Amino acid sequence: MVLSYKHEQLTDFTNLENKKAFEEALQVVNSQLGQDYPLVIGGERITTDEKIISKNPANKEEIIGTVSKANKDLAEKAMQTAVATFETWKKWDPEARANILFRAAAMIRRRKHEFSSYLVKEAGKPWKEADADTAEAIDFLEYYARQMIKLKDGVPVESREGEINKFNYIPLGVGVIISPFNFPLAIMAGTTVAAIVAGNTVLLKPSNNTPVVAAKFVEVMEEAGLPKGVLNYIPGSGAEVGDYLVDHPKTRFVSFTGSREVGCRIYERAAKVHPGQIWLKRVIAEMGGKDTVVVDKDADLDLAASSIVYSAFGFSGQKCSAGSRAVIHEDVYNEVLEKAVALTKTLTVGNPEDVNNYMGPVIDQAAYNKIMKYIGIGKEEGKLMCGGEGDDSKGYFIQPTIIADVDEKARLMQEEIFGPVVAFCKARDFDHMMEIANNTEYGLTGALLSNNREHIERARAEFHVGNLYFNRGCTAAIVGYQPFGGFNMSGTDSKAGGPDYLILHMQAKTTGELL
Ligand code: GLU
Repeated sequence: MVLSYKHEQLTDFTNLENKKAFEEALQVVNSQLGQDYPLVIGGERITTDEKIISKNPANKEEIIGTVSKANKDLAEKAMQTAVATFETWKKWDPEARANILFRAAAMIRRRKHEFSSYLVKEAGKPWKEADADTAEAIDFLEYYARQMIKLKDGVPVESREGEINKFNYIPLGVGVIISPFNFPLAIMAGTTVAAIVAGNTVLLKPSNNTPVVAAKFVEVMEEAGLPKGVLNYIPGSGAEVGDYLVDHPKTRFVSFTGSREVGCRIYERAAKVHPGQIWLKRVIAEMGGKDTVVVDKDADLDLAASSIVYSAFGFSGQKCSAGSRAVIHEDVYNEVLEKAVALTKTLTVGNPEDVNNYMGPVIDQAAYNKIMKYIGIGKEEGKLMCGGEGDDSKGYFIQPTIIADVDEKARLMQEEIFGPVVAFCKARDFDHMMEIANNTEYGLTGALLSNNREHIERARAEFHVGNLYFNRGCTAAIVGYQPFGGFNMSGTDSKAGGPDYLILHMQAKTTGELL
C-alpha cells in the first residue's frame, strides 16, 4: 500500500551528527571532482570531443566535472530513440511507472547529503538551500508518483442508460525538458519525472552550469529500473541543441524553466508547425518573477523585516520566487528599513562549503556582471543602504544589497535581477500597495505582512500572483502543499507540485460504448 504523501523533512544542521554526516559527504564529493560524464542516449554512453566544463562558482579554478556535449546529430539520435521507446513505455502500467519514482526517491533519500554536496559544489548553494533542493526533488518523485496512481483509471464522467462513457488520460509523446541552474536537482528532476511517469519519453537538456548533478540523477533513475531510452541525457548549447529540438516535428511538448527571454523564444518557436509535424506542440514554461513583499502599517515589523531579508537573499536571490521588492506603508517604512538593514548586515557571504555562511556566490561571470550593473542602476535610482559590493577574483561573490526610496516605476522595481538585491518603495495606503504590487509584467509570488483581516482578504482577491503568502516570506513553496507557478510573464500558469500538473503532460481520451 502506498502511504499518504508527506513532504521530506529538512535537515537540522545544529545537530552535530547531521553536521558531521554532511561534512563527510562533502569530502566524498570533493574526492570525486573532475570526472567525465558522457551523454546517455538509449542507455548508451556517448563521449564527445567537445565538452561542457562545469566549474565551482565559489572557486573558478575548481572543475566539478567534464561533460560531453550533444550536437544536432546526437540530438537527432536521441530523438529517434525517444520516439521508438515511447511505443513501449506508453503501454507500461502507470503504477509500475510510479514505482520507479518511489524507488528513485528512496535511493536519493539514502544518498541525500551526497546529492546536496554536489549542489554546494556545482551551484554554490549553502548547505540549507542544498538540503532543501534535494528534499524537494524527493518530494516531486513521491508526489507525482501518487498523482499518477490517482489518475490511472481516468476521471469519472456521466453515462446515460444503455451506454458506458469513459474519460482517460494518455501520454503525449516525446518531451524536451530544459531545466535551470537554480534548482539543479529539484526542478530538473521534477520536470523530468512528471513527464516520464505520465508515460512520455524525454530528452533532458540541463543547465550548462549544473550538468553534473543531472548526470547523477540520470544514474539513479536507471538504477531504479527505468528502461533504456525513456530518459535521454543530452546537455548542449541552447542555440544549437535547444532550438533544434524545440523546432523538431517529432517533439510533442517542451517543459522549460528559466528566463523570460528564453521562455518566450521557446514559446514562439514551438508555435511554428514544421513539415512532417502532425500536432500543435504544448509548452509548459516557468519563467521569471519580480516578486513583492508588502508590509501593512499594523504588521509585526520584526517579522516583516526578516521576511523581506530572507526572501531577498536566500540562495543569493537566485530564485524566481525571490522577494526583490519591498513595498511598505509610509508610517512604518523607516522602521522596517532600519530593521532590514540591521539584519542584512549580520548575513555572512563566503564559501558555501562552510556551514556558517548564509550566502554563497552567484552562478557565473555573466550573472555577476548583470547583478553588478543593476546595483549601479540602483545607486542612481535610490539610496544604497547596505551591500553594493562584489568580488569576482576567486568566485562570484556579491554582498546582500538594499536600495531604499526607489520609485514604483524604476527599473529596479520592474526588471528581474536574479541576484541579492532588493528595492524598497514607500506606499501611501493599502490601495497604493496593491497597485504597486500588481504593476509589473510578472505575477509569480508575493507576500503580505498584515494583521488587518480585511486587507488580507482584499489581497487574496486583488494581489495577482500565482503564489501569495500571508505573514511569511514569498519563497520556499512545498511540493503538494503550495503548488508553484505564476501568472502573466511568469509562465504558462502551470503549477509544479500541484494536483493538475501531470495532466499538462497528457491528453484526455473519451470512449463511449452502447451496451
Ligand atoms: N519553488 C521555489 C520557491 O518557492 C522557487 C523555484 C524557482 O526559483 O524556480 O522558492
